[in-house]
Amino acid sequence: MLSMPSVSFSQNSASPLPQSCAQQATFEAAWLHPLAAQSGHEALIRRARASQPCPIRTAFQQDRDRILHSKAFRRLKYKTQVFISPNGDHYRTRLTHTLEVAQIARTMARALRLNEDLTEAIALGHDLGHPPFGHSGEHALSALCKEAGLPEGFSHTLHSVRIATVLEPLNLTAAVLSGMQGQGKGNTDEALPVPLESKVVELADRMAYLRHDVEDAQRAELMSEGDIPAEIRQTLGEDRQERLNTLVLDLIETSAGNLNNGQAKIAVSPERFEAMQALRGWMFERIYLSPRQQVKDAQVKHLLEGLWQYYQANPKALPEDSVAPVEQVQAVLDYMAGMTDRFALSTYQTLLLPRPYL
Ligand code: MG
Repeated sequence: MLSMPSVSFSQNSASPLPQSCAQQATFEAAWLHPLAAQSGHEALIRRARASQPCPIRTAFQQDRDRILHSKAFRRLKYKTQVFISPNGDHYRTRLTHTLEVAQIARTMARALRLNEDLTEAIALGHDLGHPPFGHSGEHALSALCKEAGLPEGFSHTLHSVRIATVLEPLNLTAAVLSGMQGQGKGNTDEALPVPLESKVVELADRMAYLRHDVEDAQRAELMSEGDIPAEIRQTLGEDRQERLNTLVLDLIETSAGNLNNGQAKIAVSPERFEAMQALRGWMFERIYLSPRQQVKDAQVKHLLEGLWQYYQANPKALPEDSVAPVEQVQAVLDYMAGMTDRFALSTYQTLLLPRPYL
């Protein structure tokens, strides 16, 4: 039997609102796991600029809404997950991938009594910085950056943070930014440990794509369910729903054991994690690096190189607000990384292909 902590919601609260931000902070303090991030914790909800507190939403709920209303979030609709600008309506895009990650992450966070609102905000923001054409686009842009003297190359994770802090400043809380930046990805805020909710999102991301990329690859007739090695299916499940269920339940059980022993560790059990890695490796071989995908990679590289050279030679073609005060290389990168697949394709056509003489 779960014992419910007693939470009192005073009827005589000073706030006339049925559910106030302060009441939610009280609820979190009583209900969440002691290792969960709390929206009343000053260091976690610190923002770069002063922000009007909301009488109803916690700081993390506000952040979730800021991300959801951002332009970068809407552009995810036309960005590739794996299959480039798919004509089929049932293929994933970055947007539907993001929503699936958020759903899986929230389920796990709620079961572990972690902060579901923080988890949701991190999940919705985790791919904001994805460039057009998925990882093909990311690799191509990264190589161009290095050639142009940006030694770090391009990482969609760090670019997500750049969008949220510089390009479309959303003034998010320190905990959400730290979570978006993730574990071991150049997190520089030593004063603020990466919240556990970030690790939940990181693993939910992997679970989501291991499920939906298999489904989309089947739709594209790149593989069938029976092609997945038998050892993987024996450990994780015979079909993609079963595999997702196995992983979600495993993460909850393994992590709950850790948390109850005072260990701040979100994880899948070693046996299942190994199978998860094996499935990922198999998918790289079979889907992400397949000969068909390599042809697409080369086409994406060609297209992005063309646009890159064009904008470096013609910076006036960039939108007016994008050059000053940043360096030109960075301005071109910011503009191109923000493009959707279809915008990049049509821009290439407009700028770099001859138009028929009428
Ligand atoms: Mg993702």
